[in-house]
Amino acid sequence: MTRVLVVGAGPTGLALALQAHALGAAVRVIDRRTEAARPSRAMMLHARSLEVLRPLGVADSLLRYADSAPTVRLHLRGRVLPVRIAELAVPDTAYPHLTLLPQARVESVLATALESRGVPIERGVELASLRSARRNGVQVQLRGLGEATSDYLVGCDGADSTVRQAVGIGTSGGVYDREIVQADLELDGGLGTDTAHVSTTRAGLIFLFPHGDQAAWRLLATRPVGGGPMSPRDVQEMFDAARLQTRVGRVAWSEIVPMRHRLADRYRDDRVFLAGDAAHVHSPAGGQGMNTGIQDAINLGWKLAQAASATDPETLLDSYELERRPVARATTAWTNLVFWAESGLDPIAALIRTVLLPVGAPLVVPTVLRRRHLTAAGFRILAQLRVAYPSSRLSIDDGRPDSLPLRVGDRLPDLPVAVADGGTRLQTLTAQPGTHLLLLRDAPTVEVDDGSIHVHRLLDRGGRGLVAVRPDGYVGLRTTEASSPQVAHWLSSTGASPTPAVLRRRGLR
Ligand SMILES: Cc1cc2nc3c(=O)[nH]c(=O)nc-3n(C[C@H](O)[C@H](O)[C@H](O)COP(=O)(O)OP(=O)(O)OC[C@H]3O[C@@H](n4cnc5c(N)ncnc54)[C@H](O)[C@@H]3O)c2cc1C
Repeated sequence: MTRVLVVGAGPTGLALALQAHALGAAVRVIDRRTEAARPSRAMMLHARSLEVLRPLGVADSLLRYADSAPTVRLHLRGRVLPVRIAELAVPDTAYPHLTLLPQARVESVLATALESRGVPIERGVELASLRSARRNGVQVQLRGLGEATSDYLVGCDGADSTVRQAVGIGTSGGVYDREIVQADLELDGGLGTDTAHVSTTRAGLIFLFPHGDQAAWRLLATRPVGGGPMSPRDVQEMFDAARLQTRVGRVAWSEIVPMRHRLADRYRDDRVFLAGDAAHVHSPAGGQGMNTGIQDAINLGWKLAQAASATDPETLLDSYELERRPVARATTAWTNLVFWAESGLDPIAALIRTVLLPVGAPLVVPTVLRRRHLTAAGFRILAQLRVAYPSSRLSIDDGRPDSLPLRVGDRLPDLPVAVADGGTRLQTLTAQPGTHLLLLRDAPTVEVDDGSIHVHRLLDRGGRGLVAVRPDGYVGLRTTEASSPQVAHWLSSTGASPTPAVLRRRGLR
């Protein structure tokens, strides 16, 4: 069994541990915090995160706590524009909606799932230093506990990552001239509690979510760097400037978060990997950070668990950085732009918020919402449904089956299909940890006795080919002939099955 030490039990570390454990690794999770609970930062879980977490059996539990038909009231210098974003025209996902869900809830659902599978989260355990990371394993020093060893170590230890510094991976990026103010508040009337509120000011946007951790409301706003802690009076002044008609009662908690964007130069140093905020930090615009971290985790978790049985483990493990680092770079670029429009201090950004948005939004927003393809296109970017790895070395194109024209490297869309039990959808069929082989109707039989390879026959899709889906839900291989040698090659290169010889015994060439 491959031993994976996960440093950090934030959303990235928890998702990584769940994925690696589900694929057969022995996982150890440590976190220096003694308490599980901490104030939420992220408030949105995107559709792609729900999709990749679904095979791990946690998507329904997450949705139980979520607001999946959120409404927003846009306060535009005295005018109020209600916006409802639900039932988007995105037919190929089971989650065609925005999902408001505080980060603390995401963490508690993932932690509960992990513990129920017999993986304890060792709290109050801090990685002090990394002794060595060689070909045969990683040795670390845990504060007060001595040495620990593992085959691989993943630093999911946040923006100031000890792991990143210990292996000497540099970063590039910059700091913003604005900081984030977060607070949990009680408000004395004036605002509907069944909806979020967004307001424009010269200084930036103000977001109010009816989902505080320690009070009814969560405030998220920006301001120039260097301000002190927020008193109720400061918050009230901010609201008055935004013409938000409410009185601030109690400020139960607040924090000031300096903002920066940063990308690690590398995601891997031999047997040590970085994921989540340890590898990349962006502004909160678009709610991408936690979601990108979860998807890093799902991408890396299966590769660590299966590397030992891959024909070329180094190529498999290197594919993590090659696939995921460009995603973080692109996300930083577009969130920088959105963050500038939301909070930039220069006259052009202020003009956008104080003139263009208040005048333009009442005209543009209803039109965009009516043109459902436009909202759907924006949603696909925001929800990370467009992330793809077409040029990855794990993506093999051996011919396009006409009846299932999926592209290699794309996420498996949630299309309706027919199987022996009746009608279903592709993401329902593949909602179990492991590799999935989708055989077309006339493909030769494939017998597999490995529990982590699942074979499905699609009765409504003619042809002799197959499509292979990776454990993170991306199409890895397509072929017009299921007996193609590429199938065995792909399975063994991803570590799904140990050797081509074993595959032959199972009926694949
Ligand atoms: C104001 C704000 C709003 C945001 N809003 C959103 C949003 O809407 N949507 C979104 O997707 N993202 C959002 N983000 C980003 C999101 O909060 C982060 O991307 C997310 O927390 C990253 O998770 P992580 O698990 O990688 O790291 P963290 O959450 O930072 O977790 C790291 C963990 O590692 C532990 N640790 C650190 N060092 C050690 C050590 N040496 N030994 C042991 N344990 C250690 C820490 O205790 C911690 O538990 C927001 C961020 C901010 C600041």
